Amino acid sequence: MTEYKIEHHTYDVVVVGAGGAGLRATFGMAVKGLSTACITKVFPTRSHTVAAQGGMSAALGNMGPDKWQWHMYDTVKGSDWLGDQDAIEYMCREAIPAVIELEHQGVPFSRTEEGRIYQRPFGGMTTEFGKGIAHRTCAAADRTGHAILHTLYQQSLRHDAVFFIEHFATDLIMDEEGVCRGVLAWDLANGILRIFRAQKVVLATGGYGRAYFSATSAHTCTGDGNGMVTRAGLPLQDMEFTQFHPTGIYGAGCLITEGVRGEGGYLTNAKGERFMERYAPNAKDLASRDVVSRSMTIEINEGRGVGAKQDHIHLHLEHLGPEVIHERLPGIAESARIFAGVDVTKEPIPVLPTVHYNMGGIPTNYHGEVVTLKDGEPDSVVPGLMAIGECACVSVHGANRLGSNSLLDIVVFGRAAANRCAETVTPGATQHELPAAGVEKVLARFKRIHHGNGNTSTAQIREAMQHTMQKHAAVFRTAETLQEGVDKMNEIYASFNDVAVKDRSLVWNSDLMETFELANLLDCAQTSIQCAMNREESRGAHAREDFPDRNDEQWMKHSIAWVDEAGKVSIDYRPVHTYTLTDEIEYIAPKKRVY
Ligand SMILES: Cc1cc2nc3c(=O)[nH]c(=O)nc-3n(C[C@H](O)[C@H](O)[C@H](O)COP(=O)(O)OP(=O)(O)OC[C@H]3O[C@@H](n4cnc5c(N)ncnc54)[C@H](O)[C@@H]3O)c2cc1C
Repeated sequence: MTEYKIEHHTYDVVVVGAGGAGLRATFGMAVKGLSTACITKVFPTRSHTVAAQGGMSAALGNMGPDKWQWHMYDTVKGSDWLGDQDAIEYMCREAIPAVIELEHQGVPFSRTEEGRIYQRPFGGMTTEFGKGIAHRTCAAADRTGHAILHTLYQQSLRHDAVFFIEHFATDLIMDEEGVCRGVLAWDLANGILRIFRAQKVVLATGGYGRAYFSATSAHTCTGDGNGMVTRAGLPLQDMEFTQFHPTGIYGAGCLITEGVRGEGGYLTNAKGERFMERYAPNAKDLASRDVVSRSMTIEINEGRGVGAKQDHIHLHLEHLGPEVIHERLPGIAESARIFAGVDVTKEPIPVLPTVHYNMGGIPTNYHGEVVTLKDGEPDSVVPGLMAIGECACVSVHGANRLGSNSLLDIVVFGRAAANRCAETVTPGATQHELPAAGVEKVLARFKRIHHGNGNTSTAQIREAMQHTMQKHAAVFRTAETLQEGVDKMNEIYASFNDVAVKDRSLVWNSDLMETFELANLLDCAQTSIQCAMNREESRGAHAREDFPDRNDEQWMKHSIAWVDEAGKVSIDYRPVHTYTLTDEIEYIAPKKRVY
């Protein structure tokens, strides 16, 4: 078998991914005395979390009254009643200690005059169950993700976690009973394959924005953990829910944070109208992202877009004055200058809805344990496997995520996973031998792709996929456009059998790495578009023109989707958790949406 040099490693826990979720888990595990390795394909502080600008929500009440119960209400409502209410309660309660811990660990949050953590308003964040506007989003200027990521990496090093940096994990090693026993990774610099054995593997591989052509996420956001899970015979959940951020820079896709509108920025159309006043008279420019993205799309579709092609919208912050801009939004001023050639103190920024976040992913419970539907049991735990962060679907965001709830999600559930492992893993316990068949399977796949000698380049297949998703799984969807997209994606999926890997080396072979990433993206795209076709209602970010209403009777349930090797998708369902964790807040029953 072996043209490859293989090294073996054993740890109590292996975390795959060093973004906010992976690092919070890694350092949490290390603190609890578990031997912990963290594998990451990019240097930890280059993970996409570094790009998060706006901030992290927590009902600290530093700038006015606030309560975690109000935060929970907003999150359930924002999820359009698809979020699991036990997990949402957990997240909103634990937000408060999680932020204070970050502060003590060294995150340089912006401050109020009294020296408390500064908090800004964000879309969908309210007080008193929808009545007022909450100041809930904790920020370190407009570089919150950067600050959190650097702090968590330093803490991980301080607690002696072991890092395998620039290592690409390709597959989970599963045994015959469906227990996860380890993971295979490729050392990109040395060309060695490393087989990791662990009591728990924690996936923290981030989102899959790159299944689309225009995305705010980094080129590394390729759904690798999601792909590993589908190949392990497990389902992905709620993949039809993709969030479009209203304000990606026109042409470049780079994000302009919602924090800009939190600070008083607003949108206008070609007539100079503040059109959000029409669509969302209360929340206006701070309505939730799906509402703003759809309103912008309607303005453009009805001929009121700005620019020569009337195909985008203006975002104004000139009126805020240079002082506020330089103090609170310095990174935005820089991005707008570099990517749009705009001086934000004088002119508006050209913006367009752009793929920003994946609500769907690997189903888990609120401890971070991966779950699946097995023998009729919808919450059946998959032994040995956990998932946290954007690759997971806990599900706290349901059909749509509120801004600043993802940095919260990654920190809270990274922490929860560490706590769970402290309870369930015995440090240094003797581990099973790795299952020979499981190891052979993942090595054989590595070899097959490494020697891919077809005729279609990785870039060609990727481009076809990205354009198909952009066009057919867009802000607005209909059965017709989706069906066309499903047919195209089936062909594109099949074309991977003819993939050509030209470079056979194992050292810094970006051709091979991109091919592995493409395989993972294809699983994400395939499940997303087929679940979108399947869900005949509009909910959260999933807007069907042919089924404009939310249908709780039939569709208040999570879609779960498996993909087989030929790309065939099978769909089933898990019930939404319509119960809370404690009796401190009641289950929040569905309400009609009023903006
Ligand atoms: C531009 C932008 C701005 C945002 N702003 C905000 C905000 O202000 N507030 C907010 O709440 N949310 C924000 N979000 C969302 C939020 O930042 C992300 O959802 C979150 O940071 C994801 O964190 P993560 O740890 O799950 O993944 P990531 O930070 O994406 O990290 C993924 C990690 O997995 C590793 N990895 C992936 N695949 C492999 C593999 N095969 N082998 C080994 N390692 C692998 C990578 O190396 C990386 O370390 C923003 C997102 C974007 C794109």
